[in-house]
Amino acid sequence: MVFHGSCLCAAVSYELLSVPKAVSHCHCGQCRKSHGAAFATYGSVPRSDLRILSGAAAIKSYASSETVLRQFCSHCGSTLFWSRSQGEYAQWISVALATLDTPFAPRQQKHVHAASKASWYEIPPSCSSFE
Ligand SMILES: [Zn+2]
Ligand SMILES: [Zn+2]
Repeated sequence: MVFHGSCLCAAVSYELLSVPKAVSHCHCGQCRKSHGAAFATYGSVPRSDLRILSGAAAIKSYASSETVLRQFCSHCGSTLFWSRSQGEYAQWISVALATLDTPFAPRQQKHVHAASKASWYEIPPSCSSFE
């Protein structure tokens, strides 16, 4: 199964060669700022399973910490990916799932960094959430 995705202006398009894993809604302050939203929803694939089809030159990177790189489209500002440069997950890349164009029904979703969620948003009690 191949998943297609693109940014808002469609300059950047990509495909994922495997099903995104560890689908999570991240409520950390950095994800909220980066997305301008209550939370950011990411799923992860091995780096080798992400293929940029167009617009690679439009992708800008921001190091939000020493080891975390956040990538976005420099034309429209869509957040696209984040990844770690070190540690056990350095071979994975997290994809902003709302940029997918292919329908995707993850088996599990969880809310993470719930302790730093926006004061005006309540995580539904039926959802699994983690501090
Ligand atoms: Zn764009
Ligand atoms: Zn986060």
